[in-house]
Amino acid sequence: MGKWLLTIVTALWAAAAFATEPAAILIRHALIFDGHVDTPYAGEVLVVGTLIRRVSHGAMPVEPSLHPEVIDAGGRLLTPGFIDAHVHMGSVLTSGEMAGADPAYVAALEFKGAQAALMRGFTTQRDTGGAIWGLKRAIDEGLVPGPRVYLAGAVLSQTGGHGDDRAYEDVHKRLGGPLSPAERRGEAVLADGVPEVLAAAREQLRKGASFIKVMASGGAGSEYDPLDVSEYTSEELRAAVEVAAGFGTYVTVHSYNATSTRRAIEAGVRCIEHGHLVDAATLRLMAERDVFLSTNLVVYEIAPPGTTPRQMPKFAQIQAAIDPMMKLVRASHVKLAFGTDLVSGLEPQTRQNHEFVLRGKWFTPVEVLKQATSVNAELLARSGARNPYPGKLGVIEEGAYADLLLIDGDPLQDLSVLEHPEASLALIMKDGRIYRDNTAQH
Ligand SMILES: [Zn+2]
Repeated sequence: MGKWLLTIVTALWAAAAFATEPAAILIRHALIFDGHVDTPYAGEVLVVGTLIRRVSHGAMPVEPSLHPEVIDAGGRLLTPGFIDAHVHMGSVLTSGEMAGADPAYVAALEFKGAQAALMRGFTTQRDTGGAIWGLKRAIDEGLVPGPRVYLAGAVLSQTGGHGDDRAYEDVHKRLGGPLSPAERRGEAVLADGVPEVLAAAREQLRKGASFIKVMASGGAGSEYDPLDVSEYTSEELRAAVEVAAGFGTYVTVHSYNATSTRRAIEAGVRCIEHGHLVDAATLRLMAERDVFLSTNLVVYEIAPPGTTPRQMPKFAQIQAAIDPMMKLVRASHVKLAFGTDLVSGLEPQTRQNHEFVLRGKWFTPVEVLKQATSVNAELLARSGARNPYPGKLGVIEEGAYADLLLIDGDPLQDLSVLEHPEASLALIMKDGRIYRDNTAQH
């Protein structure tokens, strides 16, 4: 009899355990930058499970039944988790090193890189080219810590375009040669003509891409295409846009110069990556058509490892264009995403947070923080029906994903505080889960 009673009690207890609320965390005494405000306000945030349940100005009354774990922010700045709009999480070695690397070794580096990005405060990243389907799955399933990932999969490149990494003497696949190294690794597809572009775009969406990335101009990291080169015809660009639209998402293009950028805008792309050589009229067109500019500065400070003599002058050309370009961007009111594009190893990626400081030359700290949070989130939302995380991101609002940072020091006065995230990020939370909590140590 006693045994039966115990069984029943255990069953009831189990049912009750299922019925209770998920874990609650109350962050008290914070100074809240919610992704939108110009001046942060004193307030509190209640997280339940993976979401922000409530945000208050001043103190929040909390129902005792929630039994929240309390974190005292001690007046620190609370921000949404950072978003990087342009990364390559699979670019963990130089392309030369990648050639002989065992896939398990590459995967180990990817895991380490993903964790490091999260610990720098980046709770979401938009991967603009790379075969990191397995990495994204492992992060989403909680196997390894890392940011949420929006991914493009393989980039589409014309023959001789920015995604064509063959050696000079390599024979083209259509003439009996092998796939290019980047094609073998699933990082790029050489697609020429409308039928090949259609197939290549569909292939990425079939694998689960959140958006499509097309190489529309010459680039710094490739050998045979100067920056003034426009890549892909209007018909080819439109083909990619139509495939993406059929899947409810969008195309973004790698594009440096004004001609290639205008051609892409006319074809219906929704975002321009880089854009360093565009003119004022093209930026105005982008603002009018609500096309995002997803630029990056930090990657041009130091040329990535493996940069060749043919690529060096292109890096210099972009470096020289940064100041005039950023002044035009500021005047144009184009929507400016925050991205870094650091490639060819985990060491270059450690400079990710330096992008905040560089932008401080043309934008106020609060403008830069908006770019890295709510503005980037607006770009991510363009994935529409293919958005893998359709809730609110980049903001501290009721119902948003609980991706939160508590910052020691005042980045709204001095962005360089963010350059040392191991010291300045007192709390790192993604999806309501705490990855670092140093709040009690000060
Ligand atoms: Zn890139």
